[in-house]
Amino acid sequence: MAEGYDTELKLFIDGEWIGAEGRDTHIVVNPATGEALGALPLANADDLDRALDAAARGFRIWRAAPADQKAAVLSGAARLLRERIDRVARIATMEEGKPLPEARGEVMMAANLFDFYAGEVKRIYGRVLVRPAGTLSRVMKEPVGPIAAFCPWNFPIGNPARKLGAAVGAGCSIVVKPPEEAPGSAIEVLKALLDAGLPKEVASMVFGVPDTVSRHLIASPVTRKVSFTGSVPVGKHLAKLAAEQMMRTTMELGGHGPVLVFDDADLDRTLDLLVPHKFRNSGQVCVSPTRFYVQEGIYDRFVREFAERAGKLKVGDGLDAASNMGPMANPRRPDAIEAFVEDAVKVGARVAAGGTRGGGTSDGGFFFRPTVLADVPLEARIMNEEPFGPIALMRPFKTFDEAIEQANRLPYGLAAYCFTENGRRALLLGDAIESGMIGINTVGIGGADSPFGGVKDSGHGSEDGPEGLEACLVTKAIHQA
Ligand code: NAD
Repeated sequence: MAEGYDTELKLFIDGEWIGAEGRDTHIVVNPATGEALGALPLANADDLDRALDAAARGFRIWRAAPADQKAAVLSGAARLLRERIDRVARIATMEEGKPLPEARGEVMMAANLFDFYAGEVKRIYGRVLVRPAGTLSRVMKEPVGPIAAFCPWNFPIGNPARKLGAAVGAGCSIVVKPPEEAPGSAIEVLKALLDAGLPKEVASMVFGVPDTVSRHLIASPVTRKVSFTGSVPVGKHLAKLAAEQMMRTTMELGGHGPVLVFDDADLDRTLDLLVPHKFRNSGQVCVSPTRFYVQEGIYDRFVREFAERAGKLKVGDGLDAASNMGPMANPRRPDAIEAFVEDAVKVGARVAAGGTRGGGTSDGGFFFRPTVLADVPLEARIMNEEPFGPIALMRPFKTFDEAIEQANRLPYGLAAYCFTENGRRALLLGDAIESGMIGINTVGIGGADSPFGGVKDSGHGSEDGPEGLEACLVTKAIHQA
């Protein structure tokens, strides 16, 4: 195990921590250096069957547990995560690359969500219908059943916390497959729940070959719901598998965040908010602002000042306090961004900042410079496919209607941002944009109490907020005479 990477890479099934013994392994790599951090065991078919068996038993135990017990586990885990923040954040930075302050923010996000759900657990109400005396008609909310959950690597703490927190709060059991690239962070989230008293059967954690694991878990009659965060193609593939079993799904898929900046926006404040938000986690965020449509009166100044600020960001190892932006999470990402840039330049885009690999502190790391492309033609591949990287795309617009048409042009609909000082226009923007989340003069579009999810190809269902718990419940009407 690499120095400072203070976690044990194991599967957790039915209360047992399971090492490699005879199993295939995946080598976890530090994206800032290319160094191996440790070997992760991959689950075989017997392991997955054991996890499903535990989930079936765990569901019977946990659905019957009192709300107070569920709340105590969640709030206890929140406290433990806050106590362990330095160690857990360091693990996340070493395996995913994000700067330590961002990793610490992610630990806090997980703890805050657990605390929020600890309160919501006590508010899973049903209702009583108006019926003649001597009869009773009740509408009840019940946990949906064992959940199979799949998390991506970009928020290695926050994503497993979302899946685990909602399942535990709703009274479900869960088999979760966090990303093989960043497993230690998820293991620490699970440990916090177990240490806070979660019964061992309720949550199992497996790693493996993603398609093999998801097919196995979704094909099982034990599983009653699939929760997936990741790319649109994989989401559609899993939704088809789930449909064959008439299984419920929550799909949190990709985005291509439009940003509409009007002539009357407070430009300095807008840049203060947007530049760090764009390059957070090296742009590997599903709600990252990506397509910047800027009204023509301020377009040149906006591009110039955005590019200047991007050029000043210090890229380096996320453990280095001086780094504003870390490496990309795996070698696939710089390859993808490089190909996007080449294609955009070929069709006429202008590089206003960055545009090339590197900029980091180590030759072995997967670094890409903060990049700004101006005047990007609509036919450029990157204007149509999610880039998932440290790259901002800029185009001018003239009218409100044109801006809306551009914002809604793509099949994605996850996050959108608008900047204007005109209140009437702000109101109309909120109504007209097809997106699950919209920030108007802000980039703060989340929070433990706020639903997080998309429309169109960006998926369906919400995580976080009361809606995140609701997504793990089913409705039952009981009529009695
Ligand atoms: P990918 O599509 O291969 O994988 C995306 C995620 O899904 C990974 O975590 C992967 O382990 C998982 N996955 C892949 N196939 C799976 C399967 N059959 N069953 C279960 N899980 C499966 O892409 P990638 O190279 O890892 O990531 C790049 C793309 O993924 C990005 O372009 C972005 O669109 C998307 N992505 C989205 C989010 C998000 O928060 N919505 C997060 C990470 C990645």
